[in-house]
Amino acid sequence: ARRLVVVGASLAGLRAVEAARKDGFDGRITLVGAEPHLPYDRPPLSKQFLEEIGADGTPPTFRTEEVLRTDLGVELLLGTPATFLDTRNRAVGVGERTIGYDALVIATGATARQLPGMQGLDGVHTLRTLDDAVAIRRALDKGARTVVVGAGFIGAETAAAARKRGLDVVVVEAQPTPLVRAVGETMGGALASLHLRHGTDLRCGVSVIALEGEGRVERVRLSDGTALDADLVVVGAGAVPATDWLAGSGLTLDNGVVCDETLFTGAEDVYAAGDVARWHNPLFDRPMRLEHWTSAAEQGDLAARNALNPAAARGYSTVPYFWSDQYDTRIQFVGIPDADEIAVVDGDIERDHQCVALYRADNRLVGALAVNRPTEIMKYRGLITRGASWADGLTFAQTRRKARD
Ligand code: FAD
Repeated sequence: ARRLVVVGASLAGLRAVEAARKDGFDGRITLVGAEPHLPYDRPPLSKQFLEEIGADGTPPTFRTEEVLRTDLGVELLLGTPATFLDTRNRAVGVGERTIGYDALVIATGATARQLPGMQGLDGVHTLRTLDDAVAIRRALDKGARTVVVGAGFIGAETAAAARKRGLDVVVVEAQPTPLVRAVGETMGGALASLHLRHGTDLRCGVSVIALEGEGRVERVRLSDGTALDADLVVVGAGAVPATDWLAGSGLTLDNGVVCDETLFTGAEDVYAAGDVARWHNPLFDRPMRLEHWTSAAEQGDLAARNALNPAAARGYSTVPYFWSDQYDTRIQFVGIPDADEIAVVDGDIERDHQCVALYRADNRLVGALAVNRPTEIMKYRGLITRGASWADGLTFAQTRRKARD
């Protein structure tokens, strides 16, 4: 029988094995995961999971072991990372074993970027895995004075969860506003008001120069000369694609596993999906590596289908989409944030606690941000998919506004 091997047992990896079975593949499937846990969902880890006080730690698992093993017929190799890929002999190294494949999906995702000096200091955490979230939640349960380093999504959500518990939180961000990478500086500035409104001490334009303490973190020293007392430091400094194990494999690694538009890596029958994949997105005619739930799920599905049937491989093109929940606010973004112009076309974050903003590059609509306007965002995603001009975007926004008034 043919054998599909999927490396990385999270969202993209799970979708890959499910798609293979949906597609009628009746060969062997092996799912390899570095973490000891069954595949689980990450977005709740910085949201509801942190908010529950004194919870028992029930993980947000996607499927039971029984469904995976029995219904889907998946051989699970959890708790052991893959350590090498040998494309010539079509094999993956896992612990002491070497596993042959006929088709391979790489779905090893990303790992949290560490700060220099944070290793070996108790009370300092990144937030990427279930184990990270359990440790952070325990510290919050004890009422930790919390310092969050980095006001990206994970940092902002963590701060919101700590504030919901009534704890003191300081967020330190080197950029001039929160969420610069995700929504750009202009709208990041408007979103800073969320933190202020909820009593989070947000300090932008300063960086952490040292974490201090004897064995345990006690203080965070900042570039403006101040020092913050802390029992818990959560570092949200971005993520790096998990490609170390592919060194020497011959695959092209450049901020992720480089793929063509069908997620093909260039090595026969080897495809990549999710946060680890940097693929050519035909819709924007450029390489992209996304760290978004929706694209990881969709790519996992397609990568398996393509790997099992390369002759009929289909391309993956998408308008990137992500959401984030902070305090009582849902933030959604579609497209790309690098814009020549941003126009707020409806509402105002500070005044109404909601808004829609559009992003222009040349004369095209390339992005849209919705704050507490959950029904709007997919309409703009549709426009961007169809290649709408900036004028089309503005006209559409006007129609939506009129329809509402
Ligand atoms: P991952 O989920 O990173 O999984 C990769 C898996 O591969 C991991 O389990 C890892 O241990 C394993 N692995 C790594 N190396 C190896 C190896 N050598 N051998 C075997 N296994 C290996 N996205 C949104 O759109 N909205 C949100 O609100 C949102 N919130 C988030 C909150 C948090 C706290 C985090 C961490 C992410 C969030 N995301 C969100 C992003 C989203 O969760 C990711 O895009 C998604 O998890 C990517 O899935 P993946 O399967 O590609 O990679």
